[in-house]
Amino acid sequence: MIQTNDVDIMLGDGEMAALIREQDWDDHPLGPMTQWPQSLKISLQMILHSGYPMFIWWGPDLISFHNDAYLPVLGKKHPEALGKSARDVWAEVWGDVGDMADGVMRGESTSVEDLELYLERHGYAEETYWTFSYSPIFTTNGEVGGLFCACNEETRKILQQRRFQTLLGISSLRTLNMSVNDLLTRVADILQANRDDIPFGALYLVNEDMDKAELHTSFGLTGENKLFEEEIHLGGRSALGWDFRQILSSQQVSLYRKSLKKDFGHVLKEKNLNVEEVVLVPIRKAGENRTAGVFVGGISPYLNFDKEYSDFYKMVAANISSAKADLRAHEILQEKAEALTEADHAKSIALQNLQRGQERLHNMIMQTPIAMGILAGPDFEVEIMNKAGQNLLGRTESQLLHRPLLEAVPEFEGQAVHQKIQQAYSSGKTFKTNEYPIILRKDGRPEQLYFTMVLEPLHDLDGQITGLLAVAIDESAQVAARQMLEKREEYFRTMANDVPVMIWMTDEVGNCTYLNDQWKNFTGQKGNSGLGAGWLDAIHPDDHTNAEKLFSTAIDNLDNVEITYRLKGADGQYRWHIDTGSPRFDSFGRLEGFTGAVVDIHERKVAEDALRERENELSSAIKATNLGTWVYYPETGAVNWSERSRELFGMEPDKYVDYDVFLAHLHPDDRERTDTAVRRALDPEIREAYIIEYRSISENDGQIRWLRASGESYFNENGKAEVLIGTLLDITESKSLERQKDDFLAIASHELKTPVTTIKGYVQMMSEDLSEDNSEDMPDQLKIIDRQVDKLIFLINDLLDVGKVDTGELQMSKAVFNLDELLLEVVDSIQHMAPDHQIELTGETSKTIYGDRLRIEQVIVNLITNAIKFSPGKDRVKVMVHIENGMVRISIQDFGIGIEQKKVNQIFQRFYRDEETSKWSTGLGLGLFISAAIVKRHKGSIEVESVPDLGSVFHVLLPTHN
Ligand code: ADP
Repeated sequence: MIQTNDVDIMLGDGEMAALIREQDWDDHPLGPMTQWPQSLKISLQMILHSGYPMFIWWGPDLISFHNDAYLPVLGKKHPEALGKSARDVWAEVWGDVGDMADGVMRGESTSVEDLELYLERHGYAEETYWTFSYSPIFTTNGEVGGLFCACNEETRKILQQRRFQTLLGISSLRTLNMSVNDLLTRVADILQANRDDIPFGALYLVNEDMDKAELHTSFGLTGENKLFEEEIHLGGRSALGWDFRQILSSQQVSLYRKSLKKDFGHVLKEKNLNVEEVVLVPIRKAGENRTAGVFVGGISPYLNFDKEYSDFYKMVAANISSAKADLRAHEILQEKAEALTEADHAKSIALQNLQRGQERLHNMIMQTPIAMGILAGPDFEVEIMNKAGQNLLGRTESQLLHRPLLEAVPEFEGQAVHQKIQQAYSSGKTFKTNEYPIILRKDGRPEQLYFTMVLEPLHDLDGQITGLLAVAIDESAQVAARQMLEKREEYFRTMANDVPVMIWMTDEVGNCTYLNDQWKNFTGQKGNSGLGAGWLDAIHPDDHTNAEKLFSTAIDNLDNVEITYRLKGADGQYRWHIDTGSPRFDSFGRLEGFTGAVVDIHERKVAEDALRERENELSSAIKATNLGTWVYYPETGAVNWSERSRELFGMEPDKYVDYDVFLAHLHPDDRERTDTAVRRALDPEIREAYIIEYRSISENDGQIRWLRASGESYFNENGKAEVLIGTLLDITESKSLERQKDDFLAIASHELKTPVTTIKGYVQMMSEDLSEDNSEDMPDQLKIIDRQVDKLIFLINDLLDVGKVDTGELQMSKAVFNLDELLLEVVDSIQHMAPDHQIELTGETSKTIYGDRLRIEQVIVNLITNAIKFSPGKDRVKVMVHIENGMVRISIQDFGIGIEQKKVNQIFQRFYRDEETSKWSTGLGLGLFISAAIVKRHKGSIEVESVPDLGSVFHVLLPTHN
């Protein structure tokens, strides 16, 4: 494992390593080096220590990194390219390689051979050729982090092969029975075929009188060409400023490079070709060293006119010269032939041809840039070996010439190549092969090299084999590049085995071709047993059909695939996995196969399933209760309503709802109240449970519904309310029942009040009458009737009050009164009626209150009576009064049964009576409801503190009068 602080050791000490180290990465999108992903660092280490040209394009921006060996590829783009996006660095070829790069970032590998790319690395679009492969670099979580490329420039190889082809074409022309005209036309055809090196060309021949050069043939130009004059007089200059006499007078094979100055684009066959220079090469008459003509050839704007290019043009001229010379010799021979016998005639022609042929062959061999030589006789004596051949064998001409092969190159002994040479010689069959391995000793060290090799038997007139023509092209770099690719492949596999996910690859019909170790470890599938369709064995039988179906659809549509299935582990247990794959394409856009990754999602899936089940249960439960559900997001104001909630507001299913829409659909009298309740529920300081009843007005038809909403806020870690979630219940029906009940009670109590008051009146009259008679108190029976009638009146008054509270008709007749006096009076009168309890009054206010004295009395009586009623077996009730923040606080404390915390708020609801206590205490459950309403009307409040079994304290807070 490479640790972040090992970066220096990791990068090594090359030029690029230094540059990477020196660059300021802090402001770069990748950030400081210490934060780079592990996989990037490992890959960097790998390329920086390699002697082959390699690079990495990292991240979605394809940030460029490369090694020292890659610098010649970059040319002038170095050093700017480092850390830049590859899209910018290689803008000119992005159309050719961009898709491949994008594909790799999706996990597909590609490789191409001899791809032609026009690179702008030397300040012009240069024709270049490349063999390379792109492959993904996986990060530790199994994603593609970047792209890795090992590449090899093939430009020189391709150019050499192409030029060799042209030269071989000319030198192997059979000149027998050919006219000069024919010959030159054939030569022009061959030259034309190599448009890349010779964009256009022309052959001029000097006439008999040697006073002018006549255009014989030209090519690469359109129609009526205006570039070449038909005749050029040797005395002066051509229209283009060429002096042919000077060129023809030169002693050796030489070449003149001339610029065209004018734009001749319009006569060039390829319109986009902007040829600015030509070469002029003299063509000689062989032997006589007298010039016979001039070849004019264009210089490709896409190529560097280096020594190899100019040598090529020289050899073109030399080969034309020698072909022409053959022709001439043949003509001379024919003239003489008439004097000879038939046989002699034939023989001399053949001999002459052979000699000529050999001469031409020698010339060609010596001039060609490809390693060539002739091995003569059964000992393979080295007869000729050109410069390239000497270089290839690592030996000088004198070390080679006229020596048997095994003496000149002893390391061939025992190597397969020696056998091949012997076979070609004895069989007369051409031996041709690619990437043929040969070990050569150079500077005393054996070196493994690979060649494209041709061994061509040579025959004499009788058809006897006299020797071999040997041609060799060094392919070692290419083979090394390929081996590099294979290594890269291995690197990919190791990387794939290092990531903690299972990775697979298939071919284009879906057969699995690769599974990484993680797959094998998990499934227990050994060796290649998972390949082909074997991987399906590890999939749960119930998931087979679906997996196969999804996968074959993806192949048909060339689309990504995602399959969830149960995968059988080596322990026989199935676990849920998610398998995602995407197609890979080759450089022609054909499907190569799929690559994918399998990740264990068992825990998540099981939890999700359970959750879904619960959700289903919950939602069907909610459905059954006919509850509407809703979610409110205070941050955005958005409101989500279930179908049922929408129904309760008469809202279309797709109508947009937010908080304002919600409020707008409430009854105007309920809006403020509801809004306040919502605010209090969301206020992190209050966090009040949201329970409210309000009326909705249907958007459809204006129908009014009573709804009960209840909900709860959820606060995030900062204490901010994120959502308020709750339910809605339609209570319209119970509301109207309630209303009916209220109406009934109002009427009933009203109707009862008159007869009861009448009874009370008569009871009083009767007692007065009786007391007159007896001058004694009322008889006991009458007392009982009187007390019961009082109770009845009390109950009826409460009932009447409730109706008034509801309708807002509770009348207050306010006046200023003394509170201390009131308390004394109340305590005194209750003490009389409840002798079992000691009512202790403490404190004094010396304050007056502006209010309804009778109503306040009613509140205090109610609280003290409750204190007595709910403390059976106890004998004390405390009444305390004092001033607090300008308010009067009256506290009534008992030591009785107390109230459970959750019921503290309910006791103020009307008709609330505790189930337990109602069994033995009388009452309608209205006292506290009415008391709270009265205190509220006085701008005061009632608070409760209570502990079950220890007792309760009810506090009444009232504003004082000035
Ligand atoms: P009522 O006294 O007619 O039942 P109230 O509205 O006065 O009606 O009281 C409502 C309920 O509150 C009572 O039934 C009782 O359960 C509870 N309660 C009121 N005061 C006390 C108290 N001091 N101690 C315990 N419970 C009380």
